[in-house]
Formats: sequence, structure tokens, C-alpha cells
Amino acid sequence: MSSAGALRPLLSDDSGEMVVAPSGWAAVGQSGWEQLPLSRWMPLPPGSTLMHLPDRRALARAPGSGAVETVPGRHRLPVAAVLPVGYLRLLLPAHQRETGIPARTLPLYGYTAVADLNGQVVVAAARTDDFAPWTGPRPERARLEAEVRGLQRALPRSRVVAQLSVCALQHNCLTAQNTFLGRGEGALPASAACNADCLGCISLQTDSGTPASQPRMGRAPTAADLLEVGAQHLSRARAAGEPGMVSFGQGCEGEPLLRERQLLDVSEVLRRRFPSATIHINTNGSRPRALRRLFEAGVNSCRISVFSFTQNLFAAYYRPRGYSIEDVAVSCRVAVESGAQLTVNLLTFPGVTDTPAEIEVTVARLRELRVRQLQWRSLNVDPLWLLERLPRLERGVGMAQLVDAVGEALPQLEQGNFTRPVLDPVPG
Ligand code: SF4
Repeated sequence: MSSAGALRPLLSDDSGEMVVAPSGWAAVGQSGWEQLPLSRWMPLPPGSTLMHLPDRRALARAPGSGAVETVPGRHRLPVAAVLPVGYLRLLLPAHQRETGIPARTLPLYGYTAVADLNGQVVVAAARTDDFAPWTGPRPERARLEAEVRGLQRALPRSRVVAQLSVCALQHNCLTAQNTFLGRGEGALPASAACNADCLGCISLQTDSGTPASQPRMGRAPTAADLLEVGAQHLSRARAAGEPGMVSFGQGCEGEPLLRERQLLDVSEVLRRRFPSATIHINTNGSRPRALRRLFEAGVNSCRISVFSFTQNLFAAYYRPRGYSIEDVAVSCRVAVESGAQLTVNLLTFPGVTDTPAEIEVTVARLRELRVRQLQWRSLNVDPLWLLERLPRLERGVGMAQLVDAVGEALPQLEQGNFTRPVLDPVPG
């Protein structure tokens, strides 16, 4: 196997023309504010996108001195990979802002370090899941468009259908597409509001100057609307021989627990009509009492997103209104006590999630809270913009080491990227 010394930086000019750095320059990645060698890499997975980072300078090890420096010349911009679902970023692209110009905040992508290895593009990433409904082939575009038109005709006044049409066709959201296709995990976006203001929120950016990648729905749907769309999805799934799955809490919305009353109504009816379906909620876990009532009404699966189990990091990232990480922990306990599937969506960032202190807290919390599945998520955000808003931390030990440490400490914990349907019927 080739050594890391053979890894050369990929660079771009302002027009996006990409080249391999001149010989002698060695690629590095970034963890927090530090530049590090790429110690683990893999060929660029199919479905990845390469992009250059405007207003930035690539950092690499210079010929001769081996010092980390900005690369000179026209091709001076860093290149990053954006990975498809099912992969975890291990290092950020090594870069700094261009001096003397106002650098734009980068759009919300999971920027990952790449390099050239003897003519092949490699990426600092690891495969973390391979669940066919998410990673397998998707239907052709023409069929999807026909299904979208069909549901629009059937439910012409539905706000849910109107929102999901945009998500499915413009933002390529797979759960939105599933709702039209009548298969897999179908999206039921419910909330236009949130009680947090996450730095990396993909539905609403309040102060970064970068657009949200899945703009938040403008008006929340009624319970009747949610029920109609959810029931048609689960009916089609049942007709196709699937147990059926719907989920509240999508990328294009706020916090679904803020719509407790509507979700209680919807869940009660769906549970009665579809006893073996998975009724799932993706949530920030801020309202444990509301969550408990939802479990009592028929929700049987939840995914709680966590940036950090440490209060000061949690607060710096979520900017929560009226709740703390302790409320999130109580929500996790409520899920287990209620017999629901509990998954934690860990929003990872090299140099933050993999510090020794964070690893210790994360492992302890996952164990104590009896989490069934940990989902590894690469946080989509401008790396330097995020780092400037977090407290300064100790060095990370490496994302791969973090994954290994979690696996060794918690062998029963399932790890992956995607929520599985609950196959056991809900008791009672
Ligand atoms: S909790 Fe979710 S919806 Fe609310 S701000 Fe954070 S990412 Fe956005």
C-alpha cells in the first residue's frame, strides 16, 4: 500500500479548474484548527461531488521544509469532497481564508479532505452503513415525476404534498421521494417553528449569510393533512407487502415536538389503522413530556440529534431556547422506558467530536441512556465559521479512532447512518 507521503493535494483555480499540486507538495487534512496527515483514506465513493472552496487558500506540506503552508499560484484554492449517504468524514480539507478580501460563508455541505494518489482521487472517509433502501438504486426521474403529479392531483390542497414536491424534485430528498413512491420511510414534515437556532440548521440560517439547503416550510400543515398523506403512504406500503414507515421531523422543517397536539391526533389514528407500521420522529429531544405522550399515542421510534452531550458545546451549537442537554437525556430515557426504538444522530465534526473529553462523555452517555443505534452524521457547515463559534478544545484523536473506541466500549450498540423500521409489533 502506498504511504501517505505519496498523497498530493488537489487544487483549483477560481473558475473551478482542478489540478494535482506540483510534485513535492504533500496533502494534509484538518481536524479543528490543526492540519494533520491523512492517515486513513479510501477511493472517492461513487455519488461523491468534488467542489472548490472560494475565498480560501489550500494548506499543504511544502517541498523541502515539510512545513504546512499555503500553496502558491493560480491553482491555490482547496478542493473538498461531499460524500454520498452512508459514509463518514474523517478529516476536513486543510485551508485558511484568503487574506485581504471578505470571505463568503460556505454553503452547508460536509466538506471532506481529498487528495490524489497516483492519479486516483482518494478521500478521508469511512463507510458506515449500507442499507439498501437508502443506498440502493432509485427509480427513474420520469417515474418519480409521474408519482408526484399523481399525488398532487389526488390531494390538490395538501400543504404536505406541496412541500414534499419541492423536496423530492428540487432537493433530491429521499424520504420525500418515498412518500410519493409509497415505499420505505415516508416523510411527514409537521413544524414551521423551532426552539433552537442551530449553527448548522439546514432549514433556516439566521446569521451565517449562507442559504439554507432545504428551506423551511412556511406554514405548518393541519393534522388532517398529515393524516391523509401518512395514511396513503402506509396503505401503499402495506399493499406492497412492506410493514410501512412514516417519520415526522424532516430537513425542511423546524422541531416536530412543537406540534404535539397535531402529532398526537395523527399518531393515534395511524397506529389504530396500521398496527405494524413504524411511526418515527426525528427530534432535538427538547420536550420529554411531549415525547412520552407521543409514544403513548403510537409513535414507536425516535432519532434524537446531538452535537455534543457537554452542555457548553451543546449550547454553543444549538443556541436552544428553554431547554438543556439534560432535557435531551431525559427524552432518551423516556424513549427506552416507553419501549420505543432509540437512535442518536451524532452530528460529527473532526477536532470536536473526537477530543478525548468528548469521546469519554459520548461513550458514557450512550451506555447510560441505552441507545440502540448510533447514527454517524458529518455535520454540513462552513468549517472555519463553525470553529469560530465554539470554545477552543483540546486536540482530536481522530474520527476513525472515535468510531473504534465506541465500537470497543459498546459492542451491543448498533452503528450506521439510517433508521431501520421497527419489526416487532408495538406492545398493547
Ligand atoms: S433543532 Fe433542527 S430544526 Fe431546530 S434549529 Fe436545530 S437543526 Fe434546525
